[in-house]
Amino acid sequence: MQHDAIIVGGGFAGLAAATYLARARRNVRILDTGKPRNRFAEASHGFLGQDGSNPAEILAAARAQLQAYDSVELTDARASEARAIENGFAVSLAQGEEITARKLILAFGLHDELPDLPGVQERWGKTVLHCPYCHGFEFSDRPLGVLYRTPMSVHQAQLITEWGPTTLYLNGAELSGNEAAQLYARGVRIEPAPVLGLAGKGTDLSAIELADGRSSAVSALYIAPRSCLNSPVAEQLDARIDEGPMGPIIHTDGDKMTTVPGLYAAGDIARAPHSVSWAVADGVTAGTSAHRALVFG
Ligand SMILES: Cc1cc2nc3c(=O)[nH]c(=O)nc-3n(C[C@H](O)[C@H](O)[C@H](O)COP(=O)(O)OP(=O)(O)OC[C@H]3O[C@@H](n4cnc5c(N)ncnc54)[C@H](O)[C@@H]3O)c2cc1C
Repeated sequence: MQHDAIIVGGGFAGLAAATYLARARRNVRILDTGKPRNRFAEASHGFLGQDGSNPAEILAAARAQLQAYDSVELTDARASEARAIENGFAVSLAQGEEITARKLILAFGLHDELPDLPGVQERWGKTVLHCPYCHGFEFSDRPLGVLYRTPMSVHQAQLITEWGPTTLYLNGAELSGNEAAQLYARGVRIEPAPVLGLAGKGTDLSAIELADGRSSAVSALYIAPRSCLNSPVAEQLDARIDEGPMGPIIHTDGDKMTTVPGLYAAGDIARAPHSVSWAVADGVTAGTSAHRALVFG
């Protein structure tokens, strides 16, 4: 084997796993395409000691610190395929090279499928948001919106009232009597009209344009995106994948090992809900579990 461990994805989970394996003096190869899920946001919130830091700067610092360990090799490349081999795994890089390791950690993250509405894409991570814990504080007490996408949006709208006056934009969807009663009880305003698009200067949001010609003032719009795995590698290795509330989740045990022995998964792809702190914690678990399996396995 060329490496003790290969890590597919050098975001928050992957770099955390690599750091612990490096500190255990193991030979680690990280493959990364450099597109962390939160790259659309200028500031990352809630990560201890880094509240408000730029996400790319946090990752750049982690990369630089890792490169001080001689046993770590970080390659800017996409893992295109993986297969199980005797006592380990072989991973193909998109450029054609194949590398091998005894353990494989998947940390390739998710991408979000956004609603196809004018003005959403360019505001994603700025004024179109999914997580109030990440970005809600910055819009405290301003008019807030939730775009109905699934029945979960009803729950989301009730939660968002913690941060400011909230309108649920049904965009043509219908509510049950019970859902409407829950929303009224939390003071959520319900707007039934179909949504045409978002308006505002640059990436600011000032209004939701409605199909009946009205426009509704709002400073931030929450949506519940469906999140998809960035890579088919887990499927290729026959790891079990469950359907979670927001999309697929690679099934892992308490050590972050998948249903395939020696294969670990960490970060957004192997949990719900998601955050940088949880991704880092999962990466630490996967890294230390893989290390113990190298020693005792
Ligand atoms: C808009 C937005 C804002 C957010 N803001 C916050 C916030 O303020 N605070 C917070 O705690 N959380 C925030 N999050 C959540 C946070 O981004 C994720 O929880 C975190 O990025 C998950 O880390 P990860 O390592 O699992 O995945 P990622 O950080 O997404 O890293 C995955 C890495 O794998 C790489 N990769 C993908 N496929 C391959 C492949 N085949 N081969 C090699 N490399 C590959 C990607 O390029 C990427 O670098 C936000 C999310 C979004 C969408």
